[in-house]
Amino acid sequence: MVSRVIPVAPFDLVVFGATGDLARRKIIPGLFHRFVVGQMPKDARLIGVARREMQSSEFRDFIRDSLLEFALRAPDDKEQLDAFLDVVTYVCVDAAGDTGWTELQAKLRDDAVRAFYLSVAPALFGEIADRLSAYGMATPLSRIVVEKPFGKDLETAQALNQTLRRNFAEEQIYRIDHYLGKETVQNLMALRFANSLWEPLWNATHIDHVQITVSESLGVEGRGEYYDQSGAMRDMVQNHLMQLLCLTAMEPPSDYNPDAVRNEKVKVISALKPALPEDIVRGQYRETPGNKDSYRDHAKDPHSRTESFVAMKVNVGNWRWSGTPFYLRTGKKLRARSSEIAVVFRDPPHMIFPKMEGRRGNALIIRLQPDEGITLRTTIKEPGPGGLRLAEVTLDMTFADALAGGGDTQDAYERLIMDVIRGDQTLFMRGDEVEAAWNWVDPINAAWEASSREPEKYDAGGSGPEDALMLLHREGRRWREIG
Ligand code: NAP
Repeated sequence: MVSRVIPVAPFDLVVFGATGDLARRKIIPGLFHRFVVGQMPKDARLIGVARREMQSSEFRDFIRDSLLEFALRAPDDKEQLDAFLDVVTYVCVDAAGDTGWTELQAKLRDDAVRAFYLSVAPALFGEIADRLSAYGMATPLSRIVVEKPFGKDLETAQALNQTLRRNFAEEQIYRIDHYLGKETVQNLMALRFANSLWEPLWNATHIDHVQITVSESLGVEGRGEYYDQSGAMRDMVQNHLMQLLCLTAMEPPSDYNPDAVRNEKVKVISALKPALPEDIVRGQYRETPGNKDSYRDHAKDPHSRTESFVAMKVNVGNWRWSGTPFYLRTGKKLRARSSEIAVVFRDPPHMIFPKMEGRRGNALIIRLQPDEGITLRTTIKEPGPGGLRLAEVTLDMTFADALAGGGDTQDAYERLIMDVIRGDQTLFMRGDEVEAAWNWVDPINAAWEASSREPEKYDAGGSGPEDALMLLHREGRRWREIG
């Protein structure tokens, strides 16, 4: 399969926070990869911005080191480094003051798309957006890109949206949830809406339940103090898991365009029933002989109640999904780093074969990581003589194998940055979508904060707290193994 690379129009990409972790590991390597494959036009430019005093030449050295560490995929890539660095410059700007803005403005071209990527603390978003306007840089050809967190509740998200919209139209605002840039997540839409096979089965009549798991093997480590203000519900459920749920549950949009897709996602969020306390399990990893540091060691608060794990049952209150629960699960320090959506089908209404011990039934598993791909669990006759016994086998497609020799394995950030330049918002969250998600999550958090319950402790390297297993067991179901 030959991948198509469609060049984009000339652009000036301004990265605020260009010396930070996200810029070094994801944004700039992402751009470099698009340069290597020829998608970035030769007259496109990358302008790094941060507070520290630095010459463009020093910044280029810094970028070279970052690319050598994070970005080289093929031996030939190294040869492209100098050509890429030719388009890189640096301006020292204090986002919270008046230093550097005029110099930045002077660097921008009037006739090129300009994208301002705010890879800085969210507290600076408002000041930057206001100054971009004040210095005449927010033009019709501008786009502004912001990273999560988009607020910490409905009120702060509304305030952030107002700040951004004061200076940019909604069509110019790109809220990144990098999960939406993952190949498999988009493939979920292709799978559902480009095949006639699934749609007749994609409802409560045929689907018993859906499991969405995003598990991490790492703990909070160096981010402990930041994470302690957030927790898994705000950091993962409100955004990444909610997006996966929406794409699984939404109605077919009338078209593959940003508003048609996002309208359907908002409808799903609006249809979510309030989550009941007994349907939510919060956990926190503890010290074990094999894991010397507990969550609380990193959070610095020995009494922290912030959850590093959430499992919950979610009901979508609409015709399609009534009676089919969605179980969400996410956590840190679990057995493996793995993300998947498992759509588990109902049993046949009448079974003519002898009962098969341990039979789990049909399931379609969409793997986001590792090994992006799709698996269909199906039941066959166990080979061999001695009567008809059933066995479960999987039809397995790993994209890297299926698309070998030409599948374009883009990182999520690569794709999303190019979408910003092209002006395609399909894979970005709209303001009302973010607010709807907080509107649903806020009462859950308020109830938790008003309670005196402690998160349930779980061992590092396991599957999460016991109660999370019970969430499914009590209904005669079970989680898939993590990893
Ligand atoms: P970081 O490593 O702390 O980098 C912050 C950057 O902002 C630095 O380049 C810093 O450079 C610059 N900066 C700070 N204050 C500034 C000011 N007043 N004016 C101009 N520049 C300023 O942060 P990060 O981890 O890259 O995260 C950036 C954003 O992405 C945050 O909103 C974070 O929540 C979000 N995010 C990060 C990740 C990740 O994996 N890192 C993932 C998802 C979302 P100077 O100190 O030189 O100014």
